[in-house]
Amino acid sequence: MDIRSQFPLLNQTVYNKPLVYFDNAATTQKPQSVVDALCRYYTTLNSNIHRGAHYLAAQATEAYENTRKAVQRLINARQSNEIVFTRGTTESINLVASSFAQRYIGEGDEVIVSAMEHHSNIVPWQLACERHGAHLRVIPFSDEGVLDLVALEQLINERTRIVAVNHVSNTLGTINPIADIVRIAHSHQVPVLVDGAQAISHMAVDVQALDCDFYCFSGHKMYAPMGVGVMYGREKWLEEMPPYQGGGEMIKDVTFERTTYNELPFKFEAGTPSVGDVLGLQAAIDFMQQTGIDTIARQEQELTDYATRQLLEFDNIRIFGTAPHKTSVISFLLGNAHPYDVGTLLDKLGIAVRTGHHCTQPIMDRYGIPGTVRASFAVYNTREEVDILIAALRRIAPMLD
Ligand code: PLP
Repeated sequence: MDIRSQFPLLNQTVYNKPLVYFDNAATTQKPQSVVDALCRYYTTLNSNIHRGAHYLAAQATEAYENTRKAVQRLINARQSNEIVFTRGTTESINLVASSFAQRYIGEGDEVIVSAMEHHSNIVPWQLACERHGAHLRVIPFSDEGVLDLVALEQLINERTRIVAVNHVSNTLGTINPIADIVRIAHSHQVPVLVDGAQAISHMAVDVQALDCDFYCFSGHKMYAPMGVGVMYGREKWLEEMPPYQGGGEMIKDVTFERTTYNELPFKFEAGTPSVGDVLGLQAAIDFMQQTGIDTIARQEQELTDYATRQLLEFDNIRIFGTAPHKTSVISFLLGNAHPYDVGTLLDKLGIAVRTGHHCTQPIMDRYGIPGTVRASFAVYNTREEVDILIAALRRIAPMLD
């Protein structure tokens, strides 16, 4: 079955125009197989997992745990107990920032992030630093959007406790050299957390090859439902880190005097998880594997190159993020037009883009701009849709002068 026709939502009109969905970095649309998996769960399998002694609970538990193994294979983790299900990237990073900091970060210590992080890989570390009297240090990037690894080398010192960087910038599209960053950090015995929110749907991710210590991502940006995410952590860290939340399922024994905790990964999965969404994630992984990550990457690269070429033909365009290695995100400004005005006019023509700071205000400050217009592509997008965007920009440009 052809890729696009698996996505029912795309086949509609908005304001009497065919929908062009270019807001995939915010969330991807879902194939019918994912919608069906959710529906099947709630119509045939719904029950609480791990605790019930009945047929439905056993079936749901098996399906949930099979998805954990599918995620393990997807990112090539050593063991399935290194895969913790969360609500998304934000919760995954908060989990690590909170729990890791409690165990390893103290007065005068330092945490390094990059200047191109999403707020969800900045604020949890700021909170942790405030709580423990530590300081945040920042890796700068060049005008093209390339991280300065020499600066990273200079920033790391004996007080550095962790480096937290994204694999791909949601605003600039830059693919960061994670293996090199890990090599530098590990040579100082410093672990690395990778925010993989914008990488996981665009490229093969191998946490052993990257050698990172934590890898976080959201299901909804990789064709899965909202409400499920993953925190991969190397077993040796997860064993030592304290629980993030207390509640059911994460305990071994509870008395009023003392509680002992469950084994991994359950120590970090307090309460009832979003089982249906996890099964939806399994269907999304199946979709990506059937489509082929190479096919996905090739299609997205072609669209990005094609759209970039077309945009550069405008004489008043500025593209932010021109790193040699980038994914299918194009952030731009058209003349002096406010990005919000461009986005609103495009919307009326049926084209969904994102405008604003994209939860990366430090990037906007770096360039001295209020925000950008961001078009981001997924495997189901087409050249014809890029042509529609370009024609629309030509039409609205004179209105915004
Ligand atoms: N990190 C990056 C790079 C992102 O692009 C996003 C979402 O846009 C997040 C983290 C947060 O993801 P979520 O809102 O799914 O938790």
